[in-house]
Amino acid sequence: MTAAITGAPTAAPAESRPAGSRLAGSLAPMSSAQRRSAMLEAEIARDASRFRILTGDRPTGALHLGHYFGTLANRVRLQDLGAEVFVLIADYQVLTDRDVAGRLDDHVMGLAMDYLAIGIDPARTVIFAHSAAPALNQLLLPFLSLVSVPELQRNPTVKDEIAHSRQSSVSGLMFTYPVHQAADILFCKANLVPVGADQLPHVEVTRMIARRFAERYGPVFPVPDALLSRAPALLGTDGGKMSKSRGNAIAISATADETARLIKGAKTDSIRPVTYDPAARPEVSSLVLLAALCLDRDPAQVAAEIGDGGASALKATVTEAVNERFAAIRARRAELAGDPGYVRRIVREGNARASEIANSTLNEVRAAMGMIY
Ligand code: ATP
Ligand code: MG
Repeated sequence: MTAAITGAPTAAPAESRPAGSRLAGSLAPMSSAQRRSAMLEAEIARDASRFRILTGDRPTGALHLGHYFGTLANRVRLQDLGAEVFVLIADYQVLTDRDVAGRLDDHVMGLAMDYLAIGIDPARTVIFAHSAAPALNQLLLPFLSLVSVPELQRNPTVKDEIAHSRQSSVSGLMFTYPVHQAADILFCKANLVPVGADQLPHVEVTRMIARRFAERYGPVFPVPDALLSRAPALLGTDGGKMSKSRGNAIAISATADETARLIKGAKTDSIRPVTYDPAARPEVSSLVLLAALCLDRDPAQVAAEIGDGGASALKATVTEAVNERFAAIRARRAELAGDPGYVRRIVREGNARASEIANSTLNEVRAAMGMIY
């Protein structure tokens, strides 16, 4: 998918605008999910406290700039606007597309450091791993009964994950991935899920499960909405979706030198003048977009200024913009890396809080299903 961004008008005040909000005016057509997100932004601006947010990441590697502009910046913004935020470390889901979850503890701690470094405040936001909330995982059983096997088989995100899987055959966990995600979202009754575009089909499964559960057993869960940012699908250095596990990502925690090296090696094309045209020139446009997001500027203007400078001038602009935008975050992250005891305590406290909420939701589910004996 190209790095499409929306020109959606937003009613959000300047200080609460989504990352890259000055990108409004782009030529990309708006999808229905982007239109819905623009409406949700107006509601967020009116009263963010009526939203309960759940979103998260797989601990498969360091968080990258696609995460930051696709969903992480939104989490911090919503937290700061007064929404209740839950950040999930989806450790079981690491096993959906690989046999063993290597370096799991390192990755979990790395994610937690990234969250704290970008501004997630553990006093207001719960950071937890879903393996540590047993009752959350138990929701999987009733939820699985609410979806058919063909519905899971035709899920586009599952198909894409299978295409990039490292396994010779597809595990059952891969097919239950979207249902597990429904348990992640619904255990805390979240009504808003800030995600990248790749996750939209999964959120659709959660919505379907919430509706079907209500039809069969009564109203326990809200039907949550996905919230897209202005960069719902940032591309990596090879022109494919920037992903932790595809070797094409620039990590939030990368050094300035690593960032320069990765951007230097990024794919471009043979046309010299730099333009912003995501459909026709996805790789060049994605680099332009990255600079624009870091600078909070319009990508078409950024491209026009570079113009005949070509790919090398573009890469120099992107490198400088990324390194400047992330300097303070990277410094904070380095400090956190020196205090692993603190980071671990935050995750443990989050685990305990999430587990309490999951127990209470599971009791409601059992009652609704007539399973209190
Ligand atoms: P993996 O390769 O292990 O699947 P990933 O990079 O795809 O890792 P996830 O943990 O699957 O990351 O996704 C975490 C969140 O970040 C999801 O909400 C997803 O939609 C969002 N996201 C991931 N990659 C991008 C991207 N390139 N642009 C925008 N959002 C993204
Ligand atoms: Mg992924």
